[in-house]
Amino acid sequence: MGFIEETIVKAKEVFDVAGRKTSEAITIQKLKVNAASLDAQIAKDYEALGRLVYAGSREKSENQEATEELMAEIDAKRLQLESLQAEIAHMKGNLICSGCGASNMPGAVFCSKCGKKLQNTQKKQDDAPAAEEPADAEK
Ligand SMILES: [Zn+2]
Repeated sequence: MGFIEETIVKAKEVFDVAGRKTSEAITIQKLKVNAASLDAQIAKDYEALGRLVYAGSREKSENQEATEELMAEIDAKRLQLESLQAEIAHMKGNLICSGCGASNMPGAVFCSKCGKKLQNTQKKQDDAPAAEEPADAEK
């Protein structure tokens, strides 16, 4: 490979790494925005649920179905929010407790919530082995 080609390849590598870090930050930012809007939606659902229950109890009307539907929706959104938060924590390199699911600072040894020993599954980004090796090597 000639000197110029080599230089171009190196420059491209540097650019790729910088680009990847930037897009990672953008992804975290997007996830945070999603989580915040989901959080706001859940708060609204709770409010609506409160009204339903209040009206149902005051007027002795049957709001059971609507109440159940709303609660199912809240459950689904909370699950979604949980996985979003786990994703954000993972991208930041935080450690997720296998016992209670709490997110702990990178490098923590014990869970700050339940005290369980944390397993360091965190990948070091700079010297991680290439993840895209062909996994289907024939034997
Ligand atoms: Zn825990």
